[in-house]
Amino acid sequence: MGGSRLEQLDEAIGGLTEQLPPSVKSVFLKLQKKDTVAIVPISAGVCSTCGMKLPISLVQSVRAEKEIHPCPNCSKILYYIDEPARSVARKQRRTDPQRVGIDRFSAAELMIPRLTATNRDSAVRELADKMEKEGFVEKADKLTEAALKREAILGTAVDHGLAFPHVRGVEGGGLTLALGISEKGIAFNSDPKHLTHVMFFMVIPTAATAFYLKLIAGLAETFMPNEARNSLLAEEDPLKLWKLLKKLTRRSIT
Ligand SMILES: [Zn+2]
Repeated sequence: MGGSRLEQLDEAIGGLTEQLPPSVKSVFLKLQKKDTVAIVPISAGVCSTCGMKLPISLVQSVRAEKEIHPCPNCSKILYYIDEPARSVARKQRRTDPQRVGIDRFSAAELMIPRLTATNRDSAVRELADKMEKEGFVEKADKLTEAALKREAILGTAVDHGLAFPHVRGVEGGGLTLALGISEKGIAFNSDPKHLTHVMFFMVIPTAATAFYLKLIAGLAETFMPNEARNSLLAEEDPLKLWKLLKKLTRRSIT
């Protein structure tokens, strides 16, 4: 991440902070003055920062998400995480040829040459559902929700009609990528002038976190030229789209 990307993130956090109800905002800002981490998850009934065992009634109140609840010991605002979504490892027989390039992360079954979705949220849902239907992940609902939360903080649409919605911190499996194409274009960020046509949806297990930025960079580089993008947009058959994706990324994703 370059400096400007971090500045964007700071700006996004600033904008979201402004939207908080005044009482919540003052608690948040006070906590943040002491330590940059103001909001912490409950892990197995324990505050993940100070280690205090929390009463079950408190855990339930935090889970209900009706009010904010500080840890009685360290005062940080608590949140509850459901068990994370799972990525399912692809079965590979010993006799199968070694996968290389983008073939390690995707498959013909994960190509959607003509998305039916007409807005960002339903496009992300369509891609996550496809992954679940083809047996690559579990809990598409949770993945969709997490990816959209990520979009709300910092949109993943970039220039040239590309977007990289993703979910990090998924349990198990390998990095999985699905490709969705919208010929008409989808307003991925709030700017309707910049429509997104090519969406790469990624599910990134904790173990693969170090790799995904390199993958996004490789995809962005490959599909910045109009010619490469237009050839994707023209493909209507999933298998042909997959073959084309493999061919075009042969050098950029190694
Ligand atoms: Zn605590």
